[in-house]
Amino acid sequence: MKTQTQGSRLVGGPNYAPLSETTIRTFLRSIPGLTKLLGGPAADWAVREVGDGNLNLVFIVKGSAGGLVVKQALPYVRLVGESWPLPLDRIYFEHEALGHQARAVSGAVPKVHYFDASRAAIVMELLEPHIILRKALIRGTFLPRLAKDISGFVASTLFATSDFAMPAVEKRAAQALFSRNSKLCKITEDLVFTDPYRIANLNRWTSPQLDAVAARFRVDAPLKLAVQELKWIFLTRGEALLHGDLHTGSVMVTQEDTRIIDPEFAFFGPMGFDIGAFMANLLLAYFAQAGQAGPDDDRIAYREWILDTLEAFWRGFESRFLALWRKGGDGDVFSGALFADSAAAIALEGFRGRFMDGLLADAIGFAGAKMVRRILGLAHVEDLESIADADRRAGCELRVLHMARRLIVDRGSFRSIGEVTQMARHVGGSNDAWS
Ligand code: ADP
Ligand code: MG
Repeated sequence: MKTQTQGSRLVGGPNYAPLSETTIRTFLRSIPGLTKLLGGPAADWAVREVGDGNLNLVFIVKGSAGGLVVKQALPYVRLVGESWPLPLDRIYFEHEALGHQARAVSGAVPKVHYFDASRAAIVMELLEPHIILRKALIRGTFLPRLAKDISGFVASTLFATSDFAMPAVEKRAAQALFSRNSKLCKITEDLVFTDPYRIANLNRWTSPQLDAVAARFRVDAPLKLAVQELKWIFLTRGEALLHGDLHTGSVMVTQEDTRIIDPEFAFFGPMGFDIGAFMANLLLAYFAQAGQAGPDDDRIAYREWILDTLEAFWRGFESRFLALWRKGGDGDVFSGALFADSAAAIALEGFRGRFMDGLLADAIGFAGAKMVRRILGLAHVEDLESIADADRRAGCELRVLHMARRLIVDRGSFRSIGEVTQMARHVGGSNDAWS
C-alpha cells in the first residue's frame, strides 16, 4: 500500500480535479502495477461511474485481466449539490479507517491498491459479484453468513481500537487525527440527532400521511430529551474507532462472502453507534417487508429470518467481544496482572456483564435514532422508498416510528436482544394489519 500526502493539507491541492472516464485512464496508467492488474491497452478498459451513494464518485474499471474500483471525493455533497461544500479530507479518513479495519480483521474490507492524496482517490479491489446488502434484503435473499460476519467485524474493529487493546498513547494519537473528520461527524450530529425533531429545510416524509406524527415528534419532550442525551454520548465518548455509517448500504454480499465498505464517517465514538446502526437498518428492512410482500411471496419466513439475524448479530458481537477481552490486549486498562486472583477475576466478569448491558442499551437507543432519521429526515432508504403506494409505505413507516420512539426513550429497560425482536413482532410487520 503506497501513500502520498500533500504537506499540511491531508488531501487535494493543485492536481485535484474530478476524474472523468477519460482522465481516469491516464491516472491509472501512471500507477505501477495497475496496468498489469487490469490487462490490455488502456483505451480498451471499460469505465463506468456507479456512485449510487450520496457523496462521492465511484468508478468501476475493467480490463482483459481484471477490474478495480476508484473512489474519489468531491468537494461537495453529491446528493445536495455544490451549495453544500464538504472537505475532500474525508477520503483520507476512509483510507485510514480501512487500514485499521484490515489490521483488526482479515478479509472483511476491500483491499486497497493505491491511495492518491492529491487526487483524493482510493484505488481498491472490485467486489464482484457482490451486491449491496440493502438490495438483497429488498429482494428477500437469505444470507446465512451475514450475522456472524458482521458481528465479527464489529467486535474485532471496536475491540482493537479501544483502550482494552490499544495502548493509550497510540489511541490518543489516532483519536486526535480522526477528530479532524469533524465535518462528517457534524452531518450525523445534525441529520440524525437534531433535524428530525425540528422544522428543517431538508426534512421530508410521506405527506400528508405522516404530517401529524412528524408534528408530534417535534413537541415530544421525553423523546427530544432522550435523543439529545444520545447526541451527547456521540459527542463525548471516544470509546473506539467507529465505521460511523454502518447501514445496509455499506455492506456488500454474496452467499459466501460479506464485505464492509465506505468508512468515510469514521471517528472515535461510542461503540453502540455502529452496533445500533446495523440493528436499525435490519429493523427498517423488517418493517418494509409488508410493502414488498405480494400475492405469491408473503415474506413471512423472510421477516422472521431478519429478526433471527438481528438477534444472532448482537449475540455474535457479545461473545466475540468478550472472548477478545478475556484473551486480553495491549491496552492500558483492566490489565491482567490486577485481576489474576480469583476474587478480582470474578469481580471483572461481573463488570463485563454490566458493560454489555450498558452497551446494549446504547445500541438500542442509537438504533431508534437511526430509524427516525430515515423516515422524517433528509436521507431515506430504498427499503421503504421502493414501496410505490404511499398509503402502504406510510403504514410501514408509522410502525418504524412507533418502535423507534420506544427504543430511544426506553433504551435502558430492555433486558435482552430478544425483547427487542419481540417488540418488533408486536408492533407488527404483518402484511394486512395496518390501518
Ligand atoms: P458513497 O460514500 O458516495 O456512498 P460508496 O463507498 O458507498 O460511496 O460506494 C457507492 C457504490 O459504489 C456502492 O453502493 C457500490 O454499489 C459501489 N462500490 C463501492 N465500492 C465498491 C467496491 N469496492 N466494489 C464494487 N462496488 C463498489
Ligand atoms: Mg458514503
